[in-house]
Amino acid sequence: MGEVAAPTPGAPQLSPDDLMRLPAPPPGQPFDNLSFIGSKWVSAWAIRTSEGIILIDTMDNDNEAEHIVAAGMRKLGLDPADIKIILVTHGHGDHYGGVGFFKRIASPKVLMSDADWTMMETKLEFDRPDWGRPPRREISVTDGQQITLGDTTVDVLLTPGHTKGTISLLFTVRQNGQDHRTMLWGGTAFNFGQQPDRIQRLQAYLDSTSRAQDIARQQQVDVFISNHNVFDEAVQKLEKMSSAARNPFVIGTEATVRALTVMNECAQATMAAWTS
Ligand SMILES: [Zn+2]
Repeated sequence: MGEVAAPTPGAPQLSPDDLMRLPAPPPGQPFDNLSFIGSKWVSAWAIRTSEGIILIDTMDNDNEAEHIVAAGMRKLGLDPADIKIILVTHGHGDHYGGVGFFKRIASPKVLMSDADWTMMETKLEFDRPDWGRPPRREISVTDGQQITLGDTTVDVLLTPGHTKGTISLLFTVRQNGQDHRTMLWGGTAFNFGQQPDRIQRLQAYLDSTSRAQDIARQQQVDVFISNHNVFDEAVQKLEKMSSAARNPFVIGTEATVRALTVMNECAQATMAAWTS
């Protein structure tokens, strides 16, 4: 419900419920300092730093946080007790639902945008019974803020649209001694069509994607990932990693900009439909 699954050509379209019920794929390590832990539905990412772990999103609920995220981290040699920071991309339960579990087993600070903290404190835009309850407000991050833990800095990009306070993240990953600038897009689907401010939201989405294109070019972003597998196919890319000559997560700057162009043009088309 937080997202709308895109249809895959030739495949039956699976609903979020179907995707949540599928057995979780194995966790994986696209880069030396970046791990994927997730389901076919929603993803969490762990960045290993010299001073502990930054976790991006926590999946739907405590059960998934324990049995998919924490268990997956242990399989990859990461101790969930080392999580120092949790960055939540936006205020939908498939991203914050497991925060409570990590607050019990570690002492992470929880960071998200002020707008989405406020939405979670007042009225949730979406909710489902199998999502964990919203965490209590902790730290708000703003556009351009740099979150540093040990040797690693994550740049926060406010990319409103999917929610009013969706954040996307920029950081550097490493493999075989090579650095790759990475953008994690924090909220993709236009699932705000019933909101009274849907036109402003869509305009914000247009502005966010067009600004992100400039940033991707300036910073030579060559890895573009998501918090839902349906958008970045992280699970399929991980499966290909052992046999592929090149890391399938490194798509290059042009492909990153093209992906943002597609998102921007989908928003333009939706704007035309909503305002006609
Ligand atoms: Zn969402």
